Amino acid sequence: MPIRQDGAAVGLSLQPLSHLPGVGPRVAEKLAARGLLTLQDLWLHLPLRYEDRTALTPIRQLRPGQPAQVEGRVEAVERGFRYRPVLRVAIGDESHSTLVLRFFHFRAAQVAQFAVGTRVRCYGTPKPGQHGLEIVHPSYRVLGDAEDAALGQALDPVYPSIEGIGPATIRKLIAQALDKLPGTDVLELLPPAMLQGLGLPSLRDALLTMHRPPRDADLGALTLGTHPAQRRLALEELLAHHLSLRRQRIALQQHRAPKLAGRGRLAAELLAALPFQLTGAQQRVFKQIRADLKQPSPMLRLVQGDVGSGKTVVAALAAMLAVEAGKQAALAAPTELLAEQHLANLRGWLEPLGVRVAWLAGKVTGKARARVLEEVASGAAQVVVGTHALMQEAVVFHDLALAIVDEQHRFGVHQRLALRDKGAAKLAVPHQLVMTATPIPRTLAMAAYADLDVSAIDELPPGRTPVQTVALSAERRPELIERIRSACAEGRQAYWVCTLIDDSEEDGKPGGNGNATTRIEAQAAQSTFEQLSAALPELRVALVHGRMKAAEKQAAMRAFKQGDTDLLVATTVIEVGVDVPNASLMIIENAERLGLAQLHQLRGRVGRGAKASSCVLLYQPPLSMMARQRLQTLRQTNDGFLIAEKDLELRGPGELLGTRQTGLAAFRVADLARDAGLLPQVRDLADRLLAESPATADRLVERWVGGAARYASA
Ligand code: ADP
Ligand code: MG
Repeated sequence: MPIRQDGAAVGLSLQPLSHLPGVGPRVAEKLAARGLLTLQDLWLHLPLRYEDRTALTPIRQLRPGQPAQVEGRVEAVERGFRYRPVLRVAIGDESHSTLVLRFFHFRAAQVAQFAVGTRVRCYGTPKPGQHGLEIVHPSYRVLGDAEDAALGQALDPVYPSIEGIGPATIRKLIAQALDKLPGTDVLELLPPAMLQGLGLPSLRDALLTMHRPPRDADLGALTLGTHPAQRRLALEELLAHHLSLRRQRIALQQHRAPKLAGRGRLAAELLAALPFQLTGAQQRVFKQIRADLKQPSPMLRLVQGDVGSGKTVVAALAAMLAVEAGKQAALAAPTELLAEQHLANLRGWLEPLGVRVAWLAGKVTGKARARVLEEVASGAAQVVVGTHALMQEAVVFHDLALAIVDEQHRFGVHQRLALRDKGAAKLAVPHQLVMTATPIPRTLAMAAYADLDVSAIDELPPGRTPVQTVALSAERRPELIERIRSACAEGRQAYWVCTLIDDSEEDGKPGGNGNATTRIEAQAAQSTFEQLSAALPELRVALVHGRMKAAEKQAAMRAFKQGDTDLLVATTVIEVGVDVPNASLMIIENAERLGLAQLHQLRGRVGRGAKASSCVLLYQPPLSMMARQRLQTLRQTNDGFLIAEKDLELRGPGELLGTRQTGLAAFRVADLARDAGLLPQVRDLADRLLAESPATADRLVERWVGGAARYASA
């Protein structure tokens, strides 16, 4: 699809920014570095917050912490050095009160501006100072005595910064871009009938309100992201993403897939040989899969199931349907260690049935690799297990009918898409089964997995003792060392998980600022490792963190799995860890810093054996309300689905756990936690658009998701 130069064709405008006055190659480059290429990118570069300069507040009425605009005359000026140069300007107004403006960085010319009696208008957030309220580094303007300086008519937007371009220029560019905003007849894609039912503004009005909210706009709602203008934009964006996934699904289902409609002889043999009975949930999900596989179009199914819910055996049963039909199945896992674990399970279950299970990982090289590739290509290998690379590399299958991906907690849309290419050379594509250990609430699943059918294994095998979870203040750390000593003396193993502790880190959200987080976590783990090794000299203590080489990490994990170490000090990298049934104690430091989903994932590493297990959440007091509720939720339940619902409910704008946690696409406006309530509406609208106006659906996707290329290949 060619990029259109005219805005009208797609509603929003793909006009390059170089058409704006003042945007030369240098500015254009800086904008591009921020991903701002077209007019519509600027329209969607929304303010972070607003400043209200539409009124003047008498100094007497100022409140600490509440931003305000003030006008007064200079009463006194003081220049001094305490620890660094400081300029203090006292201004007074008709309310007979005084406000101090304080500057730490200033030029001589600035000092000269503030002659006593000068009229000054300023904006900032007052806070208590030595002599009443003060504002540090206000934005200000010196006004002439008779100057009639009008107040703002709209709230002033404060935009996210763009490197190399000052805030005033950003404001000017966006204002220019807004002047080119076309009328509703061109801009609006939602059919009038749909728009009416929503009770939300038109797209044009929504954009104008976001950039130039009228003085009486609900600033609280704007800040929280619940203003109708934001909801309107979020709704359209979510709708576009949803449509894009639905279209990928429709496109994929145009392909043919092998019908696997055998009698299920091998699956029945496997069931009979298992030392356990399937849970009701496992039976239900296997039935769904079996029905899908009988169809001549590819299955696209996601199986959600908590850690330990028994997804692997369901995958093995599905694989048997492919093998019975004389075709192949592949199972890919995110790490080599997990893949090895699958291999051991599948070999144990399937080889007695006479099924040949092959292993293909990065470590398999040379002649051995050539031999495996040959087996895969000839079809001698009926089931192939490996890492995700299995799917991406130039591995040629004889007749791949079922591709199974174990994603644990990562949702890789792109990886999912890569799978179907395995069958691309032939006319038929393989069926796809994706397994994830992160339950997500139904509403979110709708948005994230609109391209998949979702099944849930929402029941654990019987006989598991739920993990006992307690939350303890960090002062109790010494007791825990004793607890580890005695657990390990009984031959059990323990995890000690270190998380980010550096509060000074601005972006201290879990997983936030990737590199810095990994580094600080690694340091914390290193020093904890040293402390614990010294405190527990009789134990074999090992360390694993994200800064180690993959091979070192795997070696440490493997040693722990084999029982060669007693205590594993780790960072959150063990999240995608391994099954060590003998590990029955986990301590998580700074648990208050982690999100619910992540804590639940970590905790899932214990409670995998017959022994009662426990998880200790160590926290640094004082706990915020949110953190307290999170820890309480974990103490109260082991149910991943419940935890996921609670997670969604708890995530307020103030305490963002980020999309990283859920792994969902990054949106420009929408925030899945905040806007989850819109999702049922999104799905209804999508149904209607696909039925009544597929061309509109296409244009919405093009506008928000772009990627003509991406879906041409879908
Ligand atoms: P996950 O869903 O986390 O991948 P696994 O498939 O690894 O879980 O299963 C966890 C453990 O439970 C394995 O040892 C598996 O053999 C066992 N298991 C699976 N299903 C059942 C069942 N119905 N009854 C008893 N044990 C089961
Ligand atoms: Mg698993």
